[in-house]
Amino acid sequence: MFINGKWMAAENSREFKVYNPANGNIIGTVPDGGKNDAVLAVKAAHDAFPLWSETTAYQRSEFLYRLYSLMMENHELLAATMTEEQGKPIQAARNEVRYGADFLLWFAEEAKRVYGRTIPSARADQRFLVLKQPVGVVAAITPWNYPVSMITRKIAPALAAGCTIVIKPAEDTPLCAIEMMKLVEKAGFPKGVVNLVTACDPGPVGDVFVSDPRVRKITFTGSTKIGRMLAKKAAGNMKRISLELGGHAPFIVCKDADPQIAAKGLSLVKFLNTGQACICPNRIFVHSSMKKAFLNVLTDKVRTMKVGQGNLPGVSIGPLVNRDAVEKVHHQVEDAVNNGAVIVSGGHSLRDNGLDNGHFYAPTILDNVDEKMLIYREETFGPVAPIITYENESELIKRANDTEYGLAAYIYTADLKKAMNLFEQLRFGIIGINDINPTAASAPFGGVKDSGIGREGAIEGIDEYLDIKLGGFSLR
Ligand code: ADP
Repeated sequence: MFINGKWMAAENSREFKVYNPANGNIIGTVPDGGKNDAVLAVKAAHDAFPLWSETTAYQRSEFLYRLYSLMMENHELLAATMTEEQGKPIQAARNEVRYGADFLLWFAEEAKRVYGRTIPSARADQRFLVLKQPVGVVAAITPWNYPVSMITRKIAPALAAGCTIVIKPAEDTPLCAIEMMKLVEKAGFPKGVVNLVTACDPGPVGDVFVSDPRVRKITFTGSTKIGRMLAKKAAGNMKRISLELGGHAPFIVCKDADPQIAAKGLSLVKFLNTGQACICPNRIFVHSSMKKAFLNVLTDKVRTMKVGQGNLPGVSIGPLVNRDAVEKVHHQVEDAVNNGAVIVSGGHSLRDNGLDNGHFYAPTILDNVDEKMLIYREETFGPVAPIITYENESELIKRANDTEYGLAAYIYTADLKKAMNLFEQLRFGIIGINDINPTAASAPFGGVKDSGIGREGAIEGIDEYLDIKLGGFSLR
């Protein structure tokens, strides 16, 4: 763990093992931190806050640039660690490192643009001044599916704003977080500004984050269940919160879309990270007139996807994160089939040809999916594409919005008017229109409803770490 600028074991000296999900090999052992370690880290961040928050924006920007450069220099090491620990194919891991580094670059600039404003008063002798100031100590809880970029997406705006931070990475992927902390150390941040607590059981550390009054902000990416629980507890002392939670994205292929382009887009975004992304489509609404052509292209693409260890050439589908994930995916597939869905491709786990010790599931297409099935409501987080046929466009919006989630949605159409109408009517935070990658450091990422609160990236991303202060000046 990295606390107050020092590398540390857990107070109780306990450790836990980290496994490669592609072959079950042990790839590392890390400290199993608990309550006291979390308290120490919060204290370090709290002690570091006065000095860090008083550095100039230009100084903070310099640190972020330095960390960006170090990430780019250590690009290959970070990507290799990620493939080994999380499973994604090496090219996808490289893309994630670049995407993650971009948050540092972007917020290195944004640090200099934390503008306040003056507001005219109705009284001639009064002036209003609005100032933005860092919220204080931030506690960040990050997930395993994007183990590097979810860290930079939080630390970049927090540090740019002048906050100090304690990070708790997911128990499946602490090694990526440790590699990132080595770069933080090299970048020379003052001690206590960035701290890392690793833990096998996240509960006790999370409890310190939500209950210690020195923590003024919780930023969390993970499941809706845990996000809701943390938000309830954080309300105890009115901490600011940002939550980036689950999703159940509709992917709409209108009758005027090009089925080839739509199927290609779907094959990329559905199987991204083996389906383990919160923006992955989970209900694919295809107009009946388009179904055959769309399915033909999709099936060809899916059948040629190579599944395997992410560091082998040509592999585009890595393992799922653990055995439970494989079981959950298969349970949804079985439930769908029992309720009338048809397997077009896949539909089973993979254990042969060297995959026996990993958590692999065949890329799967399910046709005839409908409202009765679990997969229609529950997030899959796996490589299954559920196809729903529709006829009536007026009902489509209602059906697409019929979910408690509201993160991403996708529309494929050649009709601009239709695209604008769907864009305005769909209740989701991020909408791709003939586009499967509507995310970047410069763009606000986040959801509505059960998909979360707050935005990451863009000008909105730094506001999450700033308090607003109003000054009323009497000149009398
Ligand atoms: P998933 O089911 O995809 O692993 P989680 O929401 O369980 O999603 O995990 C996301 C992050 O939340 C991880 O860092 C995990 O350790 C953390 N987490 C899980 N349970 C708790 C908890 N009770 N308190 C604090 N953090 C938690």
